[in-house]
Amino acid sequence: MAIDFTLSPELEEIRMRVREFITDVVRPGEAQISDPEEIERAEYLTILFGMRDQAREAGLWLPHMPVEWGGMGLGHVALAMVQAEAAKSYYGPFVMNCQAPDEGNMHTLLHWGTDEQKEKYLRPLCEGMAMSCFAMTEPEVAGSDPTLIRTTAVQDGEEWVANGHKWFISNARRSSFAILIARTEDNPDMPQAANTAFIVDIPSEGWNRVREIETMHGGTGHSEIVIEDLRIPAANMLGGRGQGHMLGQYRLGPARLAHCMRWIAQAEVALDMMVDRSLNRFAHGSMLAEKQGIQWMIADSTMELYQAKLMVLHAAYRIDNKLDFKSEVSMAKHFVANMLNRVIDRSIQVHGALGYSKDTPLATMAQHARWARFADGADEVHQVRIARRTISAYRDHGSTRAATGDLPI
Ligand SMILES: Cc1cc2nc3c(=O)[nH]c(=O)nc-3n(C[C@H](O)[C@H](O)[C@H](O)COP(=O)(O)OP(=O)(O)OC[C@H]3O[C@@H](n4cnc5c(N)ncnc54)[C@H](O)[C@@H]3O)c2cc1C
Repeated sequence: MAIDFTLSPELEEIRMRVREFITDVVRPGEAQISDPEEIERAEYLTILFGMRDQAREAGLWLPHMPVEWGGMGLGHVALAMVQAEAAKSYYGPFVMNCQAPDEGNMHTLLHWGTDEQKEKYLRPLCEGMAMSCFAMTEPEVAGSDPTLIRTTAVQDGEEWVANGHKWFISNARRSSFAILIARTEDNPDMPQAANTAFIVDIPSEGWNRVREIETMHGGTGHSEIVIEDLRIPAANMLGGRGQGHMLGQYRLGPARLAHCMRWIAQAEVALDMMVDRSLNRFAHGSMLAEKQGIQWMIADSTMELYQAKLMVLHAAYRIDNKLDFKSEVSMAKHFVANMLNRVIDRSIQVHGALGYSKDTPLATMAQHARWARFADGADEVHQVRIARRTISAYRDHGSTRAATGDLPI
């Protein structure tokens, strides 16, 4: 099986254009709006959405969507390269309209939505006229196990009536609709078939945003929602009854990998900064770059970033080639999330007090990176699944080979 990650000249040209766009447009714009206290809200929005207009004019819009939806029509391998350029700046993915959670919701609507749902909800997302959220996690039960979801939806004629409690719903305060996961089946054949997805218009009576959760990276838009007698038209069911879990899993595959692509970009920024600092900081008779202890940190980070890139490219390759990708995405998600935290931490170490300050982006990057290890599948949940697949590969074939990427080696 030939695996070739080289880009065609056309895709290489796109990658370079994304890189230039991030350097020439997004970074300068970002510098103007990075301190919300220094800038009026109206000016902030003008600059932010002005960058979006420029991205659209440059044809750098919706890299993950098909051309007929106004996107760039890239496969997952090409997308990995574009996302890894875009996410080198904080606002890059938003400017190109490929940010979470809208990106995952677009995939979901494209795959599961009816024609009417696509026109009403997907179209404005793609045009950059709307934002959306995905409402699954609940404070009372473990988010790692969606079979425990307590929010219910009960049919009442042509409507469903939902009641429940959600939290950490990213983007909810800016969204014009949510994809809500609620329990509709009392005694399903299997526990995974209890939940159903619905599209909820925001605002709606019964969808009550009670607070923004203050997190270790601030209060940047993760809401707690109390759902009380929320009436949802039957036509807003997304996918079939009892397919909420399947839909969530389908959504999470490419969405997890898209997170990995953005995390690789962040890790590369941290490693670049680590090397730059080590070349410019003098202590105890030599530059930091000449000290073995620092070289180990650089070497470990380099090797781990290389592993991360290969894992993500290979998982993307499997998606593009319609091969089963669950295991590879799971391994990539776990590895890249942990690699990101380690590389940022080492970069902070090499920067000393400067790394701990807010004078560099490292402190903010560290705060954002921490959630990567438990959201979209906690480390341990991925490890359980990876181990299970490895054990069954051995049981079925007398070898673990199929579980380690099924590569020709
Ligand atoms: C910044 C951020 C944004 C988020 N955005 C959204 C969003 O938009 N929409 C949404 O619905 N949710 C969102 N979430 C929630 C996220 O999906 C959940 O945090 C995640 O699913 C884990 O659920 P939990 O927090 O309830 O942890 P729990 O499920 O309670 O797990 C806690 C810990 O238990 C351990 N654990 C769990 N299961 C196992 C196991 N089988 N074996 C061993 N150990 C285990 C793991 O260490 C895990 O970290 C977001 C969270 C954060 C932090």
